[in-house]
Amino acid sequence: MNRALNPASNFIRQIIEEDVRANKNDGRVVTRFPPEPNGYLHIGHAKSICLNFGTAEHFGGHCNLRFDDTNPEKESLEYVESIKRDVRWLGYEFDKHLLHASDYFQQLYEYAVQLIERDKAYVCSLSAEQMRAQRGTLTAPGTNSPFRNRSIAENLDLFTRMRQGEFDDGEHVLRAKIDMASPNINMRDPALYRVRHLSHQLTGDSWCIYPMYDFTQCLSDAIEGVTHSLCTLEFEDHRPLYDWVLDNVDAPCHPQQIEFSRLSLDYTIMSKRLLTELVSENYVAGWDDPRMPTISGLRRRGYTPASVRDFCDRIGVTKKDNIIEMGVLENSVRADLELRTPRVMGVLRPLRIVIDNYPDDRVEEFEAANHPQDASMGTRTVPFCRELYIERDDFLEDPPKKFFRMAPGREVRLRYAYFITCTDVIKDNAGNIVTLHCRYDPDSRGGKSPDGRKVKATIHWVSARHAFAAEVRLYDRLFTVPDPLGDKERDFKSFLNGESLKLVASAQLEPSLANAEPASHFQFERLGYFYVDPVDSMPGMPRFNRTVTLRDTWAKQAPRNAASNKG
Ligand code: ATP
Ligand code: MG
Repeated sequence: MNRALNPASNFIRQIIEEDVRANKNDGRVVTRFPPEPNGYLHIGHAKSICLNFGTAEHFGGHCNLRFDDTNPEKESLEYVESIKRDVRWLGYEFDKHLLHASDYFQQLYEYAVQLIERDKAYVCSLSAEQMRAQRGTLTAPGTNSPFRNRSIAENLDLFTRMRQGEFDDGEHVLRAKIDMASPNINMRDPALYRVRHLSHQLTGDSWCIYPMYDFTQCLSDAIEGVTHSLCTLEFEDHRPLYDWVLDNVDAPCHPQQIEFSRLSLDYTIMSKRLLTELVSENYVAGWDDPRMPTISGLRRRGYTPASVRDFCDRIGVTKKDNIIEMGVLENSVRADLELRTPRVMGVLRPLRIVIDNYPDDRVEEFEAANHPQDASMGTRTVPFCRELYIERDDFLEDPPKKFFRMAPGREVRLRYAYFITCTDVIKDNAGNIVTLHCRYDPDSRGGKSPDGRKVKATIHWVSARHAFAAEVRLYDRLFTVPDPLGDKERDFKSFLNGESLKLVASAQLEPSLANAEPASHFQFERLGYFYVDPVDSMPGMPRFNRTVTLRDTWAKQAPRNAASNKG
């Protein structure tokens, strides 16, 4: 069974199952994913997307993509478009369910008026600092605002004039009248509306007051008939306010807010604000830099929608905060690519070899399987001649005990081709190895042993006369420590990994790759999965991003990862 399409159950599903059974909301299930368009989505958002869209799908309901666009200062259409693209890429449709909090500005305004009329909200004219000072602390109650007892008529008048643009930014705010002594600071007369003379990407200059998050979310949910409003744990303390607002206006329904833990991944960060810093200060090449944990970065690196969905399913949904190892995500990527990615040969650090007993004018074509298990993926031919490239790492002049690959006098198999033995090592004046001389066994054609004798290693190669050179990018973790935000003394950027991108300017690749289509996947045998960069590849000149290595080499280096990365 495809787990990604039929995700495992979780505590939220169980709550909803119960509700459906009890015919709550007439058995309907409506969820929403409410991104603020102030940056590109990251893998944490993918968890929320899979949960919201996946849950609605499971119950035959629907999920709204609702832009939480109430803060024009930081929002833009570029972000809106990128978010739509990313949600679609993950495999979720929202054509009929594309909405914006700004669609409800008029209704939200009317709900605010309702609160004022019921003496549940007032216009406060304290400055932001004064308000903060009077808010109290976790242990001390807050102080009532001197404006708390304004009459309803005066509040209505002031709020109307706020809306009409008579006041400057920060001159007045509309606050809920709840309880300045509440143990929950969110309930101490929170701001509902503030004055901001800013143009909005959709509503233009129609509004100069904008509603706050806590006022907007619950009412937008109610207006849309959302039944279950799923959000991350930091909103648990906001739930009383979510409920208070809905209880104190004539809301069309009362959605249930349920919180779950956010996704954290090691060796990266998951905050749009901090990711924005990396982009704007040019620490990375853009939002879609393949090292970024953004969905657009993962996509450009070669991650597939199925692998990201599979990952979200594997990590599950709970209320417990924890940090997931990057290896778990990478295992989902390997598992998906393993099955459907054609194999090819390429050499990243070429070492020239000459097969002395192979005729100089001969070229053979060997048939190579595109996939070791899936014959339906067919075969291709790879040319073979007297001069080849092999991987520099596959040869050691003075090998340690456990090194079984090429060494002087030792026989190895060239994949699909012949057994060869190294007979001579040529060095330049500086002592660097420049060429290996070898002899081949003509009876081992196709890489088959002629007499049952065994070789311990099979290595990959390309024909030096037929190979073409291409740029290959190798990626590593973006940060050098598992929790770059954990050290309060040091800026997270001081933990950026200077080796996170290694450029191989001219890898030597088998000729079949010269016309590789942008956005296609290959496994370079023994080296990993690679993706033809969709942005800066050119016709006849593909550039390759390594999506992931074949095994979790990281686990070997960092023992604390070893236990759970084997799977
Ligand atoms: P960030 O801190 O990265 O800016 P955010 O919560 O401010 O994230 P929103 O655009 O408000 O970003 O998020 C939209 C939805 O995605 C919210 O419902 C939020 O709870 C959810 N979400 C954000 N980050 C994560 C995460 N790391 N794991 C799971 N869900 C997340
Ligand atoms: Mg947010």
